[in-house]
Formats: sequence, structure tokens, C-alpha cells
Amino acid sequence: MLPSQTHDAQPRRHRRIGTVLLWLVLASLLPGILGTAFLFSREYQNNRAQLESNMKATARAMVQSVDSQLFRAKATAQTLSTFGGIDRHDLAGFHRWATNVLAQTKVGMNVVLCDASGQQLINTLRPYGTPLPLHGNLQAIKRIFATGQPEMSAIYIGKLLKKPLMSIDVPVMQHGKVMYVLSMGIVPSQFNSILTTQNFPPDWIAVIFDDQGTIVARTHSPEKFVGRKGATDYIRRIKEASEGVISTTTLEGIPITSVWSRSPRTNWSVGIGIPRQILAQELNVTLYWLIAGMVVLLVIGLGLALLAGRKISRSVHALRAPAQAMGKDNPVDVPFIEIQESAEIATAIHQAAILLEKRAAELYAAHRVAGFGFWQWHPNSGKMVVSDSLEDIFGQAVPPFPQLRDTLLPAASWDHLDEAMATAVQTGIGFDLELQANHASGKTLWLNLKCETIRDANGDVSELHGSVLDITQRKEAELALEAEQQSHLQQLEQQVADRTEALMQANAALEQLARKDILTGLKNRTAANERLRQEFLRLKRIGIPYAVLFLDIDYFKHINDTYGHETGDQVLRQFGEMLNLSLRETDFVARFGGEEFLVILPDTSLEDALIIAEKIRHAAEVRVMPVVKQVTVSIGVAMADGEDKNEEEVVHRADIALYAAKAGGRNRVQSFRRNN
Ligand code: GH3
Ligand code: MG
Ligand code: MG
Repeated sequence: MLPSQTHDAQPRRHRRIGTVLLWLVLASLLPGILGTAFLFSREYQNNRAQLESNMKATARAMVQSVDSQLFRAKATAQTLSTFGGIDRHDLAGFHRWATNVLAQTKVGMNVVLCDASGQQLINTLRPYGTPLPLHGNLQAIKRIFATGQPEMSAIYIGKLLKKPLMSIDVPVMQHGKVMYVLSMGIVPSQFNSILTTQNFPPDWIAVIFDDQGTIVARTHSPEKFVGRKGATDYIRRIKEASEGVISTTTLEGIPITSVWSRSPRTNWSVGIGIPRQILAQELNVTLYWLIAGMVVLLVIGLGLALLAGRKISRSVHALRAPAQAMGKDNPVDVPFIEIQESAEIATAIHQAAILLEKRAAELYAAHRVAGFGFWQWHPNSGKMVVSDSLEDIFGQAVPPFPQLRDTLLPAASWDHLDEAMATAVQTGIGFDLELQANHASGKTLWLNLKCETIRDANGDVSELHGSVLDITQRKEAELALEAEQQSHLQQLEQQVADRTEALMQANAALEQLARKDILTGLKNRTAANERLRQEFLRLKRIGIPYAVLFLDIDYFKHINDTYGHETGDQVLRQFGEMLNLSLRETDFVARFGGEEFLVILPDTSLEDALIIAEKIRHAAEVRVMPVVKQVTVSIGVAMADGEDKNEEEVVHRADIALYAAKAGGRNRVQSFRRNN
């Protein structure tokens, strides 16, 4: 699985190991490169400074050589000016002597002696007496005649040779006055040795300037430039400082870097210039070497980084297969890995895989034992994933959801689940169902299916997942319990019904008992009242007439008094028996109280009632009673009337009739009449 992307505005990029190593190499080399460049530039500047300082020293030494040459010439000229023959105007002698001195000292080219007009009197370049031109530097001659001070000229063109030269001009004194001026002429070439002895590299340009900045000697093209002024800016700088460095252009137009040194005594100077092109060339060569070195270093470094990167990434890539195998639950095979850290990770993956396998086995065993599994369903793809333990629950592999209908799930269960899933997708609310299912063996299973929903970023349900729990055992126990409870309930109900029946029978018996006279076994007064009520209601309803006989045993008190109460009871029982025998099945007889009896004759006319009453009276009269031998009875007869208010009225009338019968002498039947 990929690491989850954070919700940054810009997703972070992955980088390859090789790239990181390349950066590492660059980062390691960069300080070295910068340091080397810095050191190089410092070294170059130091070298430049050293070179300039050396050149200045050389220039200084050369200026001293020039000075010493000039001073030697001056000293020689002054010595010559003290020639004794001058006083005697021995010019010829002076010529010889001066020629000799020049030949021996070689300090100058020639010696000239001229008068105040500037007319050359002697010139050692010519034999004595040869007509000579005027002096080439008349102004200097005038000044020396005026001041009596020696002078050192700048370069000028000599009158005789028509060539550039300089001269040391000293006065020749006689009696404190200037008589002549002695000039020692020096040609520039006499300074050449100062330049050549330095053995400068051929491209270097060295120049000797006089105090006016005129070129006296030059390493390059002296024939062209000696006698000419130096470059204007150069001359100006030389006047400003006794030593220095300047970038300038030679008279030929070559850009140079030049140092100079000027003599404080003669103001003559020496300049040494190096063409900038040569300096640049040296610099460039060093730079090229430097760059080449860097490039070689970089190439080697990057190459090594590339090799190292390949090695590391091979080791890291080697982890991919075991990690993927672990993710797919395949056997993890760890290859040999060169890099230690990667090898450690590979070992860790291997150990994790073993642990994972162990945990999965434990989990599977736990699920199998618990009859537990889980499922996942993606509404968009319709793909369903179930845990292996479901196979144990069903006893067979679980096919895709649509094929579960009527196979592992009875149609009703499948429809119920399908509907619950559709509702969950719509509402986002999960479910908790108990469903029947089929085991491969044909046995019925009970499953508890729980479900929860997962929504995507849009808020739509993108996944349903949940658990499956085999609850068959519990369910069967519940059902068994329920069945047992049901049968128990039925038993209870039966018992209740039985008891109720018994109770009802007891009640009925009790009721019978309540309506029975214990002594005679006839109905009692309660039963009589109920029957009277029934007959009264029937009369009211359908108009069927009935008669009521009120019977009272005559002189019963006497029997009790005479024979005892026990005998009285026996008479009552005998009388009841007789009554029962005298009446029809449909007739009703009850002991109404004491020795009084009530007879109800349904659907009977007064005439018939009187006949029956008489029959009773007669039966009593003729019956032989034990002990007492005979008893008689008086009977009042009354007909129920449709206009009676209640059932008691007819009884009352019968009682009135009975009273009349008693009054009439007893042992007789009397029907009710309005006047009795
Ligand atoms: P008459 O001809 O006027 O009816 O005279 P009689 O003696 O029958 O008068 P009465 O009705 O006053 O007396 C009834 C007597 O019946 C009174 C009572 O002691 C007696 N008696 C009532 N109930 C019982 C009974 O259950 N057993 C016995 N042995 N005597 C009873
Ligand atoms: Mg009585
Ligand atoms: Mg009586």
C-alpha cells in the first residue's frame, strides 16, 4: 500500500537514491572547488604582487646603473674640465688628452668644447682643426656660462652626427669665470647594456627614459623610438610617483602592465612592461588546468556516486519483492542483499512475515472456533470480499453475492439481506440482522450479520463491511427453550382448563346443593324462587299460564310436640317423597320452608291444577305414615296472571287461598278467589 498522500497544495516529490548521491557529490566537491578557486585567485594575486615587486626592484637597480653611468660621465667630464692646458688655450693638447681619456674610460661617446657663442672649438669625433658646427644644446651652454653650474641634458639631436644624444655639460673655469663649456656626449646605445644584461623574456619591453620622458634606450625597435617621448599617460604617472604600476599601451600599440622606477637624483627612469596578453595566457593556462582538474574530479565523483547509487538502489529494489509478497500473503523469499541496512530491513520483513503468518493463523483459528467472519462489499463494483473463516461456517466456498440466493442463503434471507444492503447504501446507516442460512451438509444455520458503512470524499457510501457470526447454537437453544416454554404453557392452559372445568362442576354441584333441601332432597326455596322467576318471564314472553300450589301440613306442631322433632323430620321426608310421586316430570316441587311446600304446574289451567291438588291431598290423606299413622295437608291454588307485576304475586294469592283452606277446616284444596 502506498503511503497516504497529505493534502498539501503541492504534492511532495520522491527522489531517486542516485540523484541524492549526485547532489551529495556535488555538495562535497563544491566547497573544494570554491576553496581551490579562492586559493588560486589569491595565489595568482600574490604572484602578480611578487612579480610586480621583483620588477620594481629590477627597475630600481637599472635606474641606479643609469645613474652611476651618468655620474661616472659627469665625474669624468669634471676631471677633464680641470685640464691644465686650457689656461694656455692649448686646445690641441686638450683634444689629444680628452681622446685618450675617452678611449680608456669609455664613459662617453665624445667630448666637445665650445665657447660662449656655442661654437664648437673641439670635438673628439673630428681631428683637431676640422671646422665644426654650433653646439646642439645652445640654451644649456648659455645657462652654464651664466650660472657656472654643470648640467645634464635631455636627449637632443647632435649637430655633427645628426643623431639623438645627451650630454653632460660642465663649465671650464678660469679665474673664477666660465671660459668654455665642456660637453661629454653620450649616445643612447651606451645604455643598451643596462637593458640587455637583464635578459628579460623576449616579449617584455624595457625602456630607459630621461628626465623629460624621452626614450633613451628600449629593448624593442630602439631605432624607431629612441629620442621620442614615451606614452603621455605613462610620462605623467612617472612624474607623479617615483615607483608604480600602470596598465597602459606601448607606442606600438601593445597593451601592457608596466612598472617603473624613477631616480630621485637624475629623474631618469626605467620602465619594464609585460604584454597583458602574456599575463592572461599564463593565467588562462593555470585556469585551464584548474578547470580540467575539477572536471576530472567531478567525473570521478559522479561516476562513483552512480556506482554507489546503483548498488544501494539494487539493494533497496531487492526489498520490493519480499514486501509485496508479504502484502499479498505469499511466501516471503529473502534474497542476498549487499547493503547491510537493506539486508537488516529484509530480515525484518522476513520476521514480520513469519509473525504475520502466525497471527493470521491464530486469527483464523479464533474466527473458526468462534464461527466468526467478516465481509466487505463495494457497491460501485459489486465486488464482495469475505474472510476465509466464512468457508468454515458454510462448509463450502462462498460464491459471489448474486449466486448466494437459494444456495447458501434461502431466498427469503437473501432478499432480506439484499434489501438491507440497498437501504444501507442509500441511508449510510448500517444494520444488524439475524438470518437463516444453509450449511453444505443441508443443516440450517443461523447467522448474525452486522454492517457499517464507509463514505467517500463526496459523502457517498463507497463500502459496506461487517461481521458474520454463526449463532446457530444460541438460536437453536432459544428455539428449544421457546418450544419448551410453549409446551409448558399449553400444559398450564390445559391444567387451568381442567381446573376450571372441575371448579365449574363443583360450582354446579354447589349450586345444585344450594338449591336443594337437605332434609327431603327436594328443591329448596331459592330454587323455587328462581323457577317462579323463569315461569313468570315465560308467561310475560309467550303467555303460557301456570298454576302455583301452596301446601301446609296440618297440625304439624302437634306431631313435633307429640312424637318429637325426629319423627317430625321423618314425616317431612315421607311427605316429600309422596309429593314427588304424585307429580309429572315437568312439574316443579320444592320445600318452601318448615312444613310448607310449593308446587309449580307449567302450562296448566286452574281446573287441572285443582285436580292435581286434590290428588295430592288425597294421596297424603290415604298414605300410612310410620308412628303418626296419618297426616293431612291443606292446599291453596292460584293461577299466574298476565297482569301480575312480579312472580311473587301469584305465590301471595296461593298463600291467601291456603289461609282460606285452613280456615275452612283443613285437609282441603282452596283456589284463590278475590273475596277470600
Ligand atoms: P296448622 O294446622 O294451623 O298448620 O297447625 P300447625 O301445628 O301445623 O301450626 P304451625 O304452622 O304454627 O306449626 C308448625 C310447626 O312445625 C312448628 C314447628 O315446630 C314445626 N316445624 C317446622 N319446621 C320443622 C322441621 O323441620 N321438623 C320438625 N320436626 N318440626 C318442624
Ligand atoms: Mg305451617
Ligand atoms: Mg301446619
